[in-house]
This record gives sequence, C-alpha cells and structure tokens, in this order.
Amino acid sequence: MSAQVRSCPKCFQLMWLNSEEYEVVDEETIRTTCPHCGSTVRFQLVTQGDNAAGPKMGH
Ligand SMILES: [Zn+2]
Repeated sequence: MSAQVRSCPKCFQLMWLNSEEYEVVDEETIRTTCPHCGSTVRFQLVTQGDNAAGPKMGH
C-alpha cells in the first residue's frame, strides 16, 4: 500500500502515512498517532469500489 496524505481531525495539519507507520485496525480503518498534536487518530481507507481512486473528473 502506498503512502497516504491525510489531514489530522484534531489539529488539521497534514500528515504523511507510510505503511510502516500506521496500524491497520480492519480492512477499512487505519490508526496512527499525529506527529503534530500527538492525538491517536483513525482514518477510513477506500481501497475498493468505484471511489477507490477518488471522484473522476468530468470531461
Ligand atoms: Zn494532529
């Protein structure tokens, strides 16, 4: 799995999530510690389905 960039829900700063730096809670959820505010935060992963690559841009 490639690195992800997410915004911390607590302090709203961006953090890079490398695969070795977060804990997989289940197949859709990861957990990590924010390097900025130290909060334990969870993110939902979208790895399958139509929205896996994000919304498609219109023509
Ligand atoms: Zn934070």
